[in-house]
Amino acid sequence: MSPLPTINPVEPFLRAERMPHIWCPGCGIGTTVNCFARALVASKLPLDKVAVVSGIGCTGRVAGYVHLDSFHTTHGRAIPFATGLKLARPDLTVVVYSGDGDLIAIGGNHFIHAARRNVDIKVICVNNFTYGMTGGQVAPTTPVGATATTTPYGCFERPFNLPFLAESSGAVYVARWTAFHVRHIAHSMVEAFQKKGFSFIEILSPCPTLYQRRNKMGDGLDTMHFYKQHSVIKNGANTRDVDINLQGEIIVGKFVDNERPTLQQSMEQQLRQTLRDRYAGWGGV
Ligand code: SF4
Repeated sequence: MSPLPTINPVEPFLRAERMPHIWCPGCGIGTTVNCFARALVASKLPLDKVAVVSGIGCTGRVAGYVHLDSFHTTHGRAIPFATGLKLARPDLTVVVYSGDGDLIAIGGNHFIHAARRNVDIKVICVNNFTYGMTGGQVAPTTPVGATATTTPYGCFERPFNLPFLAESSGAVYVARWTAFHVRHIAHSMVEAFQKKGFSFIEILSPCPTLYQRRNKMGDGLDTMHFYKQHSVIKNGANTRDVDINLQGEIIVGKFVDNERPTLQQSMEQQLRQTLRDRYAGWGGV
């Protein structure tokens, strides 16, 4: 008897032997992976030219589940690893797929410098406002007033506005969606795959186990309803104005789509110029 045909279009992109995955019911990370698979199909990228790099955390497990060349690196170090990979293999589309704790706290310095240098990598940040895997500690994305295991009386630190951080550091493509906006996420991923330079997509995603429950926000489905009701699409919005306000509107959209030389292009241009200047008297290079 021939095997049943594949009915889930995402299945070919997953390492079935690694299922079941570790994500909790209602977690939004799986939804983002579904979008990623659909974006890969839509972009028609050769899959042997796509590499995924993750750090540590619940989102960091994506690297282990996708059926691509992938690297599960140490905590906070996905971006430096991806930078090295891209410089050594410029023919690859290098995707960093990790969480807010990994990318913006422990790996925060790598994030701003990779954006500043315009490294040609695509950074997908699943932002659930907390450290999920390590137990729900406060993160640099936790909204003021929200409780975490390390802020039982409420977070009192101002969180990062990630699109503004990315743009002001030098990213050429910046978008934010929530896990509810599945088509927009996939579309942004396709655009980022086609873009040359540091591209950043933030996806607000429920962590029902450690963030929603602690903050009495219901389960994953309740959070999807919340995102549906509270998000407002404002493409081209000034990233200064997109701080997350869980009491008011959450601004989502594509905010930045610029062009400037990538790290590799700047390096090659500088090298050519230096050689031209140095050997100008020798009849040119
Ligand atoms: Fe998802 Fe939170 Fe569970 Fe981690 S702890 S898998 S982020 S719901």
